[in-house]
Amino acid sequence: MTTNLFPDALSRRARGAQLSPIAAAGARAARLAAEGRSIIVLTSGEPDFDTPDAIKQAARVALEQGQTKYTPTAGTAALRRAVAQGYRQRDDVDVDASNVIVSNGGKQVIYLALNATLDEGDEVIVPAPYWPTFPDAVRINGGQPVVVPTRAEQGFKLTPQSLRQAITPRTKWLILNSPGNPSGAVYTADELAALAAVLRDAPHVLVLWDEMYEAIWFLQPPVSLLRVAPDLAGRTLVVNGVSKAYAMTGWRIGWGTGPTPLIHALEAVQSQVSSGASSLGQAAALAALQGAADGFVINARHAYAARAQRVVDGLGAVPGLRVHAPHGSFFAWVGVAGLIGAVRPDGRRIEHDGDVVDWLLESAGVAVVQGSAYGLSPYLRLSFAASDADINAAIERIGQAVATLAPQASLEAAA
Ligand code: PLP
Repeated sequence: MTTNLFPDALSRRARGAQLSPIAAAGARAARLAAEGRSIIVLTSGEPDFDTPDAIKQAARVALEQGQTKYTPTAGTAALRRAVAQGYRQRDDVDVDASNVIVSNGGKQVIYLALNATLDEGDEVIVPAPYWPTFPDAVRINGGQPVVVPTRAEQGFKLTPQSLRQAITPRTKWLILNSPGNPSGAVYTADELAALAAVLRDAPHVLVLWDEMYEAIWFLQPPVSLLRVAPDLAGRTLVVNGVSKAYAMTGWRIGWGTGPTPLIHALEAVQSQVSSGASSLGQAAALAALQGAADGFVINARHAYAARAQRVVDGLGAVPGLRVHAPHGSFFAWVGVAGLIGAVRPDGRRIEHDGDVVDWLLESAGVAVVQGSAYGLSPYLRLSFAASDADINAAIERIGQAVATLAPQASLEAAA
């Protein structure tokens, strides 16, 4: 079918939208695998585990009971109550079902929140490295992402000084993500208290607190912003869901918890977008929140922690790489400054982190994602939501590939 209507027929907003770079990296790896190459794919943002059986069983029961109709737009009463109860217990905050909206994944909650609040040109502060959806969803909804780079010395966390500098009268939201994708960074109570102090001087700024990786932590349980600064509850939207904790990415259930007027606005937008989330997914998520798979969550966390350690030890021994030990999530954030400028066996120079990623895919058959996709270079993100065998083989292949780079002396000097 040929047409000359496009791209002009697309809206300015749609023209600015792009397919997720993580999905693109995965697709490139899949193409090579289809050609018969042995490719280890470590690009994925989803657990390698299957959804626990007790949760699947709850969905089967719901199906048998005929829970196959539209649910209320903001979610089933039972699931909204269960979410609210979880926050009351954990954070001692005063929330009930009316403070909760259930959506098709946390991603949709974020989209709805930005759609419901941003006017053209409103600014949203996004610390980098970021999950690419944050700036892209801001742009699609007419806003202006204000990307604030973070530094390795600060554990890739936003500092109060840089937050203060980034706030303007047009700032609508600050987005914070802990445990962080892709950095694995977890904000401490003191760090959150310091950020909250800055926010108190900027009462017009809303806070999107994304805690999607809350259940995946290695040193100590992550602290939530509202536990530290309950006075921010009137302007904070907490985003979470079942995707990562319960290995339920495909069920598409997430939720936002926040002030009732904001939740009502999200509900109004959602009513014209998807009418609501899947009835069976919500039944399954309810079983998860009621504890059907608590043992799974603990076992998965221990498995991720062991893999994190293996990656830190294994890649930490490779000259030119600097692994930043994750405190949560299932990602390793690896500095590759030591490889920039090195020369590949075919004579080509590695100029940036995209070159590192392309070369690792071609020469080692290991697929990872370049830091530039997350707004900070030169780094790469390696997902350890993969089998032990794949992780071990990837570490070995990366080590062997780096050993073929010249000049080795410069790698060692930079490491
Ligand atoms: N927040 C972060 C930081 C994520 O990495 C993701 C998924 O990758 C989400 C939110 C959304 O997850 P979902 O839409 O599956 O609930």
